[in-house]
Amino acid sequence: MSVTAIIAAGGRGRRLGAAVPKQLLQLGGRPILQWSVEAFLAARCVDHVVAVLPPDVLAAPPAYLQSDRVTLAAGGERRQDSVASGLAAVPAGTSLVVVHDAARPLVDAALIERTVAAAAETGAAIAALPARDTVKQSEPGAPGDKVIARTLPRESIHLAQTPQAFRIEVLEEAVRLGREGIEATDEAALAERAGVPVRLVEGSARNIKITTPDDLAIAEALVAPKGGGTTLRIGTGYDLHRLVEGRRLVLGGVVVPFDRGLAGHSDADVVCHALTDALLGAAAAGDIGQHFPDTDPKWAGADSLALLREVTALVATLGYRPVNADLTVIAERPKLGAHREAIAASLAGALGVPADAVSVKAKTNEGMDATGRGEAIAAHAVVLIERAAGGGQRAAREAAAPVRG
Ligand code: MG
Repeated sequence: MSVTAIIAAGGRGRRLGAAVPKQLLQLGGRPILQWSVEAFLAARCVDHVVAVLPPDVLAAPPAYLQSDRVTLAAGGERRQDSVASGLAAVPAGTSLVVVHDAARPLVDAALIERTVAAAAETGAAIAALPARDTVKQSEPGAPGDKVIARTLPRESIHLAQTPQAFRIEVLEEAVRLGREGIEATDEAALAERAGVPVRLVEGSARNIKITTPDDLAIAEALVAPKGGGTTLRIGTGYDLHRLVEGRRLVLGGVVVPFDRGLAGHSDADVVCHALTDALLGAAAAGDIGQHFPDTDPKWAGADSLALLREVTALVATLGYRPVNADLTVIAERPKLGAHREAIAASLAGALGVPADAVSVKAKTNEGMDATGRGEAIAAHAVVLIERAAGGGQRAAREAAAPVRG
């Protein structure tokens, strides 16, 4: 038995409101059409694929359609015209044809194989899902209104999907009926008209048809990486500044009363610097010195909390937002216990996370080395960032507007 798949992608499908036909929209980083074609090429029972395309795609076919196992054909006015065009391009020797709607990209090899196997036995079979909801048939009520005419026995109701598989002579007869003017929304309807029994094979709930933006969002969620559809990344940062007389001590954007402050080009906020570096590290987007060089007079006396806010916005443009941060500040003096909550709240505000998503811990260095002698303050930071499913632009919108230092 030689099996050819016809992928019907000839329609324009502009109900999604996009500038490109729906079958070329991206799903999980690949065009919807590519998902469908690759699913059939991956099914062991399928020998060859005929992709029926709109004229502009046919004129410049993408690389994933350029294979000696794929033949291209021009789409027609109606779906049945496209299938007729595909059937005319089926390789000689094909004994069974399986028709699939390109707008069902999540079809899997098991579903293809059980549909083909059933059709090989008896001539025709389609994937369908039994109705789960109670099914009502309507009739016109008041103008513009509908009322229930009757409740149909749910056990007998099935919702047709594709793949739909036919012995080639059955599909040829169905296509002939279509040419004679019989309208049908699928090939099975034509086979029924030809008097051929069409078997129902258990479809798949994942095998959804992408028609509206909501369908595309559901499909994105189905193909998103595991872990709630998010990608997590982690980054660490470290900084140290010397304590000198005549400067304010700023830690995490909070002015801490002390007789000395940290030396530096900006406000020398060692806590913000460590956290900013951690954020940049998590996004693999460089380091603080690259983004805010201390050789640039623009950053003299800069408010480091504003720089942290700016880097949060930068990371958002890459599709990520902070989840939580944990900091350790190493200072012999002043004692920071009374300031920890204010510092954590200040950092949480800049990151755009809840206050309880930032932890600030204070340590001394037990009198050891320069930090221990009270000559410097150091900070370590670790931060987790997440990329939500399909999220770059959304995260960017939600992020705080960039603030210039
Ligand atoms: Mg620094």
